Amino acid sequence: MLTADELRVRYHAERDKRLRSDGNDQYVEPTGRFAHFVDDIWTPRVEREPVREEVEVAVIGAGFAGLVTGARLKQAGIDDVRLIDGAGDVGGVWYWNRYPGAMCDTAAMIYLPLLEETGHMPSQKYTMAPEIFEHAKRIATTFGLYEGALFSTSITSLDWDDASSRWIVRTDRGDELRARFVTMGTGPLHRPKLPGVPGIETFEGHAFHTSRWDYAYTGGAPDDGRLLGLADKRVGIIGTGATSVQCIPHLARSAQELLVFQRTPSSVDARNNRPIDPEWFATLEPGWQDEWRMNFTILQTGGFADADLVQDGWTDISQRIRDRIVAEMTDGEVEEFGPEAFRQAYEASDDEKMEEIRARVDALVADKATAEALKPWYRQLCKRPCFHDEYLESFNLPGVQLIDTDGRGVERIDATGVWIGGEHFELDCLIFASGFEVGTEHARRAGFETTGRDGVTLTDHWADGMQSLHGIHVREFPNLFIVGPTQGANLISNITHNLVEAAATISKVIAHAREVGAHEVEVTQQAESEWVALIDTHPGTIFGDTECTPGYYNAEGREQTKRDRRNSSGHPLGSVAYFEYINAWRTSGDFAGLDFRS
Ligand code: NDP
Repeated sequence: MLTADELRVRYHAERDKRLRSDGNDQYVEPTGRFAHFVDDIWTPRVEREPVREEVEVAVIGAGFAGLVTGARLKQAGIDDVRLIDGAGDVGGVWYWNRYPGAMCDTAAMIYLPLLEETGHMPSQKYTMAPEIFEHAKRIATTFGLYEGALFSTSITSLDWDDASSRWIVRTDRGDELRARFVTMGTGPLHRPKLPGVPGIETFEGHAFHTSRWDYAYTGGAPDDGRLLGLADKRVGIIGTGATSVQCIPHLARSAQELLVFQRTPSSVDARNNRPIDPEWFATLEPGWQDEWRMNFTILQTGGFADADLVQDGWTDISQRIRDRIVAEMTDGEVEEFGPEAFRQAYEASDDEKMEEIRARVDALVADKATAEALKPWYRQLCKRPCFHDEYLESFNLPGVQLIDTDGRGVERIDATGVWIGGEHFELDCLIFASGFEVGTEHARRAGFETTGRDGVTLTDHWADGMQSLHGIHVREFPNLFIVGPTQGANLISNITHNLVEAAATISKVIAHAREVGAHEVEVTQQAESEWVALIDTHPGTIFGDTECTPGYYNAEGREQTKRDRRNSSGHPLGSVAYFEYINAWRTSGDFAGLDFRS
């Protein structure tokens, strides 16, 4: 076992190997031969007449952000709510991502929103994607959100009309909606990206991105991971992140040969999934889901609670840190709790956790060299932590090869396969598990520009990073509400907690605007500036931006700019502080910082 100092040296060496001057620019958009990678393969496009209407609330994005916002608006008595999404149905990432084995790493009891309101009991502690997609549809049905919804409809522009105090929503179907209010939950992980490997467009075999899994080629279905079409195929997969960890066990069992091209291994902890007992579920008291969500958030962010209701890998490390600090303070080893004590406890707990994760690789992977290459050498939260009980074991199956690139990545692609270290690997099929665009500008990721008062675009307004009050309201963009984690709680371990809170806040504000007869609601300049100044005080990660191995969590390892921080930070005192603050703000009824104009 390495000492703490030796670990540090190893971590730095592994990070340095992976640093690249092109950072985020190493990725390319699917264009040319791969332009169809963004098409909707799940729902055929049906022609329809353009819609020209006045609506009370246009809800852009029908993923969980739009669904919970729509549901809360309906609960607040606002009936004229219209969902718009480029996808053929609700569900957002769960509509698009139907790869075999797709599931949510966050426990269903806290991840699936509105469980009490819809009366749904998740089947397992961690639910598979088809069940999550069904739940999204259940929310839409329960709250009447399918009525008038515009699916397979992409927004082309969103413009504020000052004269009528309306948003003009134009779409690729020729629609023109005039909306009094607009909510925007377009999500951070929705545009597939590809590795900018030289020659990528010359590949002549079959290819697809994991977010548009080609079952017509592979066989199987989202709820049937037997990919019989691959029985005589040599399949390669680029990428070993959270998506890959979930689909590789199915590929490994199905393909004649599977070649996994790895740049950086994921940290893969135990899953320990299990069914939920209906008898136990029936004993839960009303209000349980709010309590569970908050309990998880408190523990995951290092706080104290009487019980750990969720009990999983997300809360494990923060509880270790917390318990270590308490023990050291009790033993007198640490006199005062401050940043240094926290840092030491963090490092020690993380070292312990990562040693366990590396030992797990040794215990599960038979071939020593393969096991060595599958060990992650970075801190657990540097990259998205993964949890799976079959991924590592997949490398013991005959026909499965790990092609480790020692941090360099795939070098070149040609008509018949992939080149690494001067060696050519011939393939019938190449699967890109290369993730989604993060950190690119608003209009590019959303797919349309938003133009507010006096022709100001959101892209320009956010040129130096996001500016908002509470991550929701934006100056110069009246009656527009953002639904997302950034500049709010920024809770990554349970994204829907951010969305549920944002929805509660937005529905209150809109209901209040209607009550007082306000035509416009807009954040004051002062309130926006003060909130952004607060966000700017966020200390960043305790290890600094450049300590971690590169990835989309840290802008691919470069020193972060003020813009990066504004686009990726939350309340400086953490998620719990934000949730408590925003709950008090919206229930006070003062709506401080907002201007309601009649
Ligand atoms: P990621 O962005 O996490 O992973 C992309 C992968 O591609 C990385 O392993 C990356 O390596 C690799 N890669 C990029 N370029 C090359 C190259 N040239 N050669 C070899 N490998 C390369 O995408 P995912 O789709 O896996 O996950 C995206 C996010 O979606 C997750 O982080 C998570 O937030 C979410 N997700 C959530 C799930 C859930 O349970 N809720 C399930 C699945 C995804 P490197 O690490 O070196 O950059």
